[in-house]
Amino acid sequence: MAEPFSAPELIRIKRDGERLSDEQIDWLIDAYAAGRIAEEQMAAMAMAVFFRGLSGTELSRWTQAMINTGERLDFSTLARPTVDKHSTGGVGDKITLPLAPLVAACGAAVPQLSGRGLGHTGGTLDKLEAIPGWRATLSNDEILTQLDDVGAVISAAGTGLAPADRKLYALRDITSTVESIPLIASSIMSKKIAEGTGALVLDVKVGGGAFMKDLDAARALAETMVGLGTAAEVETIALITDMSTPLGLACGNGVEVEESVQVLAGGGPPDVIELTVALAREMLAAVGIADVDPADALASGRAMDVWRKMIIAQDGDPDAPLPQARESEVITADRSGYLTRLDAYPVGVAAWRLGAGRARKEDSVQAAAGVRLHAKPGDQVTAGQPIVTLLTDDADRIEGARQVLTDAWSIEAQPSTGQQLIIDRIAG
Ligand code: URA
Repeated sequence: MAEPFSAPELIRIKRDGERLSDEQIDWLIDAYAAGRIAEEQMAAMAMAVFFRGLSGTELSRWTQAMINTGERLDFSTLARPTVDKHSTGGVGDKITLPLAPLVAACGAAVPQLSGRGLGHTGGTLDKLEAIPGWRATLSNDEILTQLDDVGAVISAAGTGLAPADRKLYALRDITSTVESIPLIASSIMSKKIAEGTGALVLDVKVGGGAFMKDLDAARALAETMVGLGTAAEVETIALITDMSTPLGLACGNGVEVEESVQVLAGGGPPDVIELTVALAREMLAAVGIADVDPADALASGRAMDVWRKMIIAQDGDPDAPLPQARESEVITADRSGYLTRLDAYPVGVAAWRLGAGRARKEDSVQAAAGVRLHAKPGDQVTAGQPIVTLLTDDADRIEGARQVLTDAWSIEAQPSTGQQLIIDRIAG
């Protein structure tokens, strides 16, 4: 069958800053997913979009075309409303772990289809796989059954959701075209809309440890994604939150599970509790559940009950001890004063170098590797006091982690005014 368009023609249109028609976008994405457009042609198109952008109408069509290349899950048979959360990724960001069972304990169903980590931010599935026996991959029927029985599922996003995105994301990764707002927004939202959630709360991170380094870019990404969700009739709101310093005191896999369980037990670091409760309130409001306070569900242990059921339903043992690192090294404060800065990015890279993250998709991760923080910005510290502990199974990884942390914090005589955690809220 003759093709209605040609790739060089469409690349030229976008290269010259003109608009693609609906039919051209539908053809482009479908033909790419089906392998009728070469990788190098789509690479040129991604670069053209990187420089020229997409108009609002082009972007909605592009997102819809990506959704149309795969399946859409249908949760309409569930008795409870569905709501999901997506974070653009940060260091120590384990919020999904306490949040999904918490929101389920308050009456919503949470289908949290997640990914693995690549680079300096960890992946939710890698963290949960530190729990002995826990299984990330579920069939669509298992997801539905678990949502019905338990109310929360955290599992691998199946290959059937927006397969065009899977291909395009891998291509963008090797052609330096990831950092484009329309490409990021369509990539994230195509998967979330295809997942079939009724409502979505986005946690758009900003700061040195995030994709978006400045507030204007984070706001633009949040507004673009909220616009796409709203247009697809998914109630969508975004919080813009600080990622200049790691969330909580644990960065890695097993150590983040441990911290999440502390939060579910009514303890844990104040910033993790604050963000978990704030996102839970947004998620519940988005599905019209107004009469339950998530802070009560944490304090009463109801969220912990759902966590245990959720882990057991996926063959994990919530009582099994988490793996412990074979090697550790403590770095201490070289002077007394106030910790005025503790940068997220080097801490994320240190955890990654220690074995918590992977450099290539096919690499495996160490369950026990990571970084424990002993102080946060604003804390008073004394010379010789531990600031971080490095954890790994391979002693020869410690030097690389130590190096990247050389200038990761400052200790000064006077405290500095801290950055607030929740910076802005964007609604449709
Ligand atoms: N996460 C995604 O799923 N897609 C992007 O483009 C960036 C982050």
